[in-house]
Amino acid sequence: MDSQHVLIIGAGLAGTSLAHQLLANGHRVQFVDRGVNHSTAVAAGMVNPMVFRRMNKSWRLDEFMKDAKSFYLHMEKELGHALFHPIVIRRMLSSEQERNFWLERSKLPEYQDYLTELTPEDESYSLAENHFGSGRLKSSFWVDAKVYYEKNLDYFERKESLFKEDFDLLSFDENTLNYKGTSYDKVVFTVGYQQINTPFFNELPIQQTKGQTIRVHSKEIPEVESLNRKCFVLPLGDQVFRIGATYEWDNPDLKPTNEAKQELMDYLNALGSYSYEIIDQQVGVRPTVLDRRPILGAHHTIKNMYLFNGLGTKGYLMAPTLARELSDYMFHEIPLDKEISIERFYRKSNS
Ligand SMILES: Cc1cc2nc3c(=O)[nH]c(=O)nc-3n(C[C@H](O)[C@H](O)[C@H](O)COP(=O)(O)OP(=O)(O)OC[C@H]3O[C@@H](n4cnc5c(N)ncnc54)[C@H](O)[C@@H]3O)c2cc1C
Repeated sequence: MDSQHVLIIGAGLAGTSLAHQLLANGHRVQFVDRGVNHSTAVAAGMVNPMVFRRMNKSWRLDEFMKDAKSFYLHMEKELGHALFHPIVIRRMLSSEQERNFWLERSKLPEYQDYLTELTPEDESYSLAENHFGSGRLKSSFWVDAKVYYEKNLDYFERKESLFKEDFDLLSFDENTLNYKGTSYDKVVFTVGYQQINTPFFNELPIQQTKGQTIRVHSKEIPEVESLNRKCFVLPLGDQVFRIGATYEWDNPDLKPTNEAKQELMDYLNALGSYSYEIIDQQVGVRPTVLDRRPILGAHHTIKNMYLFNGLGTKGYLMAPTLARELSDYMFHEIPLDKEISIERFYRKSNS
């Protein structure tokens, strides 16, 4: 297939994972991004393979995990920066039921890559409050989110493929896909929680889910693993930890609140009576969808216009695979899975 020129609005995780996929397939990309990011760059970037409530594997885990690891390792090389950090997540089990789920699942072959079998040391782990024992996850990692976003902007700026500005509707012609004098073959909107404020795809139910985290300094919190119960405690090095994250539905407000800070401190205090000082507080807004599935696909009337959104709380796990699937759909007409396709909403609104 001939090389095509694709305009991408939004250089967060959705936009950049798609762009790298397109470049690898020989296409050209041009970004429009205002340079201020409140999700991809604010995220803790953790990739946790499990959904702890019933101790199940995350949706489509095996395929997402394989692609995610190789994508971020490739990104390290491409962007010239360390990004990918393997980490053991130690789940402090929160009930007898959760413990039983762990005991059952860790014996199943399909969980071997993710759950370790509980050892006597896990059961009696003493560096955090421990009523039901603890268990260690395998294959988890975190991506340095701020570095990922900023280095990607630098990368596309160096390639002269970035308009660092607000998308200017008056300079865009949706019939010819012309933006500022250049006609593009395809246009993709990847604007995250701002979708509702753009003139295209704004009827879709992409919600704005505010999240807050705090960074603390402590000589007492264990630094080797990431503790988890009600919150995650991510060791960043030099006795600094990220604690997160809150969920505030339908709230795009970017102000840090004392309530969120207190909630996170309560969760941390419940893990152990560590002394710590708060360094700062971060705020962002996730693009979420009620059915917890991302939304990908083509505009129902405007030809060659696409959407990649709704990455929700597990964006760092899902984005690389989904970017490939969207690219296959855009260029090879390989249908998108019904669970992620935009058609699930168009069908509803037409019926
Ligand atoms: C506090 C918090 C913690 C999180 N922790 C994790 C985690 O540990 N693991 C995980 O997997 N996920 C996590 N997430 C979720 C993750 O951040 C999101 O799934 C993902 O970043 C969404 O990426 P996106 O590209 O869709 O949106 P965004 O990151 O919001 O990117 C959209 C981009 O579009 C640009 N833009 C928007 N409108 C315009 C416009 N009109 N003109 C020009 N540019 C525009 C913005 O500047 C932005 O750069 C967290 C989110 C938050 C808020």
